[in-house]
Amino acid sequence: MAEQHCNIAIVGGGTAGLALATELRRLGVSGVTVLERELEAGGVPRHCGHYPFGLRELKRVLKGPDYARKLVQNARAAGVDIRCDTTVTALHPQARLSVNTSEGSYELQATRVVLCMGVRESSRAQRFIGGQRPMGVLTTGALQSMVYLNHQRPFRRPVIIGSELVSFSAIMTCRHMGMRPQAILEENDRVTVRQFMRPFPALTGVPIRFNTSNIRILGEKTVEAVAYTDGEGQGHQIAADGVIISGRFRPESALLYASHLEVDQGTGGPSIDQYGRASDPSYFCTGNLLRPVETSSWCWHEAVETAGRIAQDIATPIGGEGHVPLCSADPDIRFVVPQRLVKSNAPNAMTQMQLRLSQPVSGHLTALSDGKTLWGDYMSSRPERRILAPLKPLLKPDLNAPVELRVL
Ligand SMILES: Cc1cc2nc3c(=O)[nH]c(=O)nc-3n(C[C@H](O)[C@H](O)[C@H](O)COP(=O)(O)OP(=O)(O)OC[C@H]3O[C@@H](n4cnc5c(N)ncnc54)[C@H](O)[C@@H]3O)c2cc1C
Repeated sequence: MAEQHCNIAIVGGGTAGLALATELRRLGVSGVTVLERELEAGGVPRHCGHYPFGLRELKRVLKGPDYARKLVQNARAAGVDIRCDTTVTALHPQARLSVNTSEGSYELQATRVVLCMGVRESSRAQRFIGGQRPMGVLTTGALQSMVYLNHQRPFRRPVIIGSELVSFSAIMTCRHMGMRPQAILEENDRVTVRQFMRPFPALTGVPIRFNTSNIRILGEKTVEAVAYTDGEGQGHQIAADGVIISGRFRPESALLYASHLEVDQGTGGPSIDQYGRASDPSYFCTGNLLRPVETSSWCWHEAVETAGRIAQDIATPIGGEGHVPLCSADPDIRFVVPQRLVKSNAPNAMTQMQLRLSQPVSGHLTALSDGKTLWGDYMSSRPERRILAPLKPLLKPDLNAPVELRVL
């Protein structure tokens, strides 16, 4: 198979990949190539035809497609080689990739690879939603592609399942094309989004049904109704002609599972160290691939920081012999990023770890190693909220045993 070479190969031309590539060029790194499987780069924002994107990073409030175009323009102007219609099909040790394009396949040997493949919403099957198998069941991402990229209206009266921020994005997308969501079905007793967003469905005339379970989709050819059981055990049916399955994001990690890289069961993404390196240190990772799910602005800033670490690693290798795991056996803690702590004095390590909970928790979040408390602080939060905690107290030169997080 033909072989090509580049310096930094970036898999995924969404917010993170484009921001990282542009920053690498700004830092003077040459041979930066972005590999994007779609016909256009820009990632998820390309089909989010609504505000607000770009406020912190571009100092402008833009709709998703304008934001995506701006990121592509910036990358091209900085001298990034963006290759669209280019799918990475395998990751090999020491920064080597297998690549497919409509022109043929090749192997790409890089100095460093950066994985920025983002996330995807859980499917109907992954959410165990029963019933019949009619047409008209879409994720928010698929709905947005149809509406904003192809100008199609797949249904008129859908039911939305889930109440994460992206579910509200689904309402905006529906309104854009004159579709009227009939209800949001949420399995918990309150919406997942933050307090200030809670009135949004009511303001747009979409009722929310809480404590729903046993959701089933009904209809022979197309969706006719959605059935569910309420908190009192009563069965209900809502007439509808479509279903939007929203949220429950998972990292786009099919490539990882088929590779030599370690995958973290908590996030479903790569297991990384405090410099953003995967278990093979020729691979860095950033953006939503690290965990489900953050805003574009967050991913942009995360990617720019990762670019600084890569530029530094090329000039003076970060090194770091061995690692200790950063983990949690506490069922209240769903995941922590990073998952590996290496011994290295290289500058620019992450200053904070990111955590998420599996249920509402109040208590002392504590980091322990070898029976000693390294750090602790009071915390009160809910699932799907970003939790940040300092990493520095954990990075001790004499650290030899795993660091475990618990809520006490
Ligand atoms: C429906 C929806 C609405 C949203 N609304 C907002 C909002 O209003 N404001 C906001 O700030 N954020 C919003 N977000 C979040 C925002 O879109 C993401 O945070 C951001 O896009 C993450 O960037 P990323 O680069 O990590 O991933 P993505 O943007 O998803 O980019 C990943 C890229 O990798 C490519 N890729 C994957 N696998 C391969 C492969 N094997 N080979 C080549 N290419 C590959 C994909 O095609 C994609 O282009 C929304 C997200 C969704 C899903």
